[in-house]
Amino acid sequence: MTRLFGTNGIRGVVGRDMTAELAVRVGRAIGTHFGGGTVALARDPRLSGPMLCRAVAAGLMSSGVEVIDLGMVPTPCAQYYVHMHAGLKGGVVITASHNPREFNGIKALDAQGMEMAREEEEAIEAVYFEDRYRTAEWSEVGDLRSDTGAIDLYLRGILSRVDVEAIRKRRLTVVADPANGAGCVTTPYLLRALGCRVLTINGQPDGAFPGRLPEPTAEHIGDLMRMVVEAKADLGVAHDGDADRAIFVDETGAFLYGDRSLALLARAELAARGGLVVTPVSTSSVLEDVVREAGGHLMRTRVGSPIVARTMLAQGAVFGGEENGGILFPAHQFCRDGGMTLAKMLELVAREGRPLSELVAALPQYSLQKVAVEVPVDRREATLAALLGLVRDREVDTTDGVKIHAPDGWFLVRPSGTEPLFRIYAEARSPERAKALASEGAELVRRAVRS
Ligand code: MG
Repeated sequence: MTRLFGTNGIRGVVGRDMTAELAVRVGRAIGTHFGGGTVALARDPRLSGPMLCRAVAAGLMSSGVEVIDLGMVPTPCAQYYVHMHAGLKGGVVITASHNPREFNGIKALDAQGMEMAREEEEAIEAVYFEDRYRTAEWSEVGDLRSDTGAIDLYLRGILSRVDVEAIRKRRLTVVADPANGAGCVTTPYLLRALGCRVLTINGQPDGAFPGRLPEPTAEHIGDLMRMVVEAKADLGVAHDGDADRAIFVDETGAFLYGDRSLALLARAELAARGGLVVTPVSTSSVLEDVVREAGGHLMRTRVGSPIVARTMLAQGAVFGGEENGGILFPAHQFCRDGGMTLAKMLELVAREGRPLSELVAALPQYSLQKVAVEVPVDRREATLAALLGLVRDREVDTTDGVKIHAPDGWFLVRPSGTEPLFRIYAEARSPERAKALASEGAELVRRAVRS
């Protein structure tokens, strides 16, 4: 069947793939799927947000669904609102997360506030592609009202799950870079409530993203890295456009890779009570080492935050996340949450009483190498099959793509979802060995394409 939803909702370039007409139809399809009831609606500050929100709301209401407009808030804030209001059928968030400026998207939430399960997305897609919309009678058309209370509810939820006193005592200086995204309306206030001295850059919501691109990569957050040093701050935090991710900068201005913050926070969570941690197959071995040392278990899944979240829920995990800064704290909610991740990192720094750079330096050190090999889209399946044949006498993991374990490292080969490429991720204790493993992976893919 043709798909509407990708791995993270419906995404597209505004005016080309992502139009008002599409948004009305998607709203109608989601409303038909819910079959009445009340749904929360939110958006990030992208310029097309007001247009798409109203179109989705019209679609929802036309199918007999009541809409509560939460306004411009982070995705995890909208998810928490749905999670905490038992009477809601679910939610819709208009966001393109970390994508470039010209994109926008539509994300559907279930009654727990989680990104919808694949089966529910398929039910919505079936309504959409088969034109089976429910149309409410004149007297049954849904109403629209606003609730400006989502931010307060969300911040109180986070503050109830960290040691506020311990953080306040340290009077940390924090530079926040919400990317002119939805985190502007929550993160500076969260930091203030935690007794921090707060400096912000790109701190006014602006869908033109004048400060930087919304993905918090080392290339994009140079201003933050410099400002942390300049302000002699304890740390810096950067979000993506909808603030479900948090990436950190240590007090020396160094970019902290997401797998390192994931490992630090995993250790802190496990120290409290042990248990299961969930992460995709592509995450660094540093997490495995830390979890094992803390007496916990690590389960690896296919790549994608909805899969990580669903696995955590099903398996009763205590912690989980991805190397891109998307981290889930299940006692709070089963969704990536940039604000919660920030609060937990401050709690860790406050309790340890040591600079973030020292905490990172004490972690096991690994090197990661990424390369790509061109593979035509129509050769994708055959190449994967040939590759499996080439490595049949090795230790192979096919959770997602092909992951090959060596005694001193691993490499993972995954077809790109959007480009005619196979990506190879390799990790080892030294950069030289990681490079060698990446080259071995690339050579295997080239042989597999030819065979
Ligand atoms: Mg995001």
